[in-house]
Amino acid sequence: MKNKTIRIFSVLLCFCLTMTLFASCKKNGDKGSTATSEESKTEEVKTQEENTKPDVLSEALKDGVLTVGTNAAFPPFEYLGDDGKPDGFDMAYIRLLGEKLGVSVEILDMEFESLCASVGSKIDVAIAGMTVDEERAKTVDFTNSYYLAKQYVLVAKDNDEIKDAASLANKRIGAQLGTTGDFIAEEVPGVEEKQYSTFSLAVEDLKNGNLDAVIVDKNPALVFEEQAPDQIKAISGDDFDFEDEYYAIACPKGDTALVEALNKAMSDVQASGEFDQLVKEYIEK
Ligand code: GLN
Repeated sequence: MKNKTIRIFSVLLCFCLTMTLFASCKKNGDKGSTATSEESKTEEVKTQEENTKPDVLSEALKDGVLTVGTNAAFPPFEYLGDDGKPDGFDMAYIRLLGEKLGVSVEILDMEFESLCASVGSKIDVAIAGMTVDEERAKTVDFTNSYYLAKQYVLVAKDNDEIKDAASLANKRIGAQLGTTGDFIAEEVPGVEEKQYSTFSLAVEDLKNGNLDAVIVDKNPALVFEEQAPDQIKAISGDDFDFEDEYYAIACPKGDTALVEALNKAMSDVQASGEFDQLVKEYIEK
C-alpha cells in the first residue's frame, strides 16, 4: 500500500516536471524566431511608444490634460480669435505638442505678470512669447527655446527724433508690466515710464500722443504697425543695440520629466517640418 502511494506520487511528480519544462520551452520560443505576426506587431507598437512617450511620466501629464497659461494679447503669438478663444502661433504649437505627448490641452488666459507664479499650481505650463530670463528661471524651469526674438521700438509715424539708445533718454516710454520691454524701459536714463496690463493699451496711448515710445517684441511690434501704418512705425531693436531674446515654455521648477518630454516633442515637430508650417501660417503670413 505504502509502495503504491509512493509510485503514484512519483508518476505525478514526473508529469508535473515535464509540463513545467514544456511550458518554459514554449515561453522562450515565443521570444525567439517562432513569434507569431500578432505578437511581433505588439512588440513594434511598444517600441514606437517608447520612442515618443517619456520614460518617467511627469505629474503634470498623468491626468491626461496639460493646463496651459497664456496672455492672449500678444499677436501673432497669442490673441483672442473671432470665437473669443485664445488663438495664435503659441496656441497652435502647444496643441501640437500636446498631441505628440498624447494629452489634451486646456488654455487659460491670464495676466502675463502672474504666469510664472502660477506655473505648477493653477497651470502646468506657460507659453506666452516668454523670454528665457535669469530672474524667471529662479521660479520656473524652461524648455529648449523655440523662437529667436528682439525688442523693437514703436514711435509715432512722424517721430524722427527717436532712432538709437541715447535718444530714448528722458522720454515717456510705455510697456506691458513685467515684460522684457518693461525691464529695458526702466533702465533708460531720465525715463518717464508707464506700465500697462497689455501692450494694446500702451499702443493706444502712443497713438493718442500720451507716450513717445513703446518697447515691445519684434513680431507684435510689426503687427501693431500693420494695424495702424498711418499713425505708428516700428524701429528695429538692432538700432538700439538690444540683445537677442529666446522664447521657451515655462514648466514647474524641478519637473525634469516634463521638460524632457516637451523638448523631445519640440524636436520631433521641428524635424517633421510641422514647426515651419506653423511659422508660415501664423507669423510669416
Ligand atoms: N517676450 C516678452 C517677455 O517675455 C514679452 C512677452 C509677452 O508680453 N507676452 O517678457
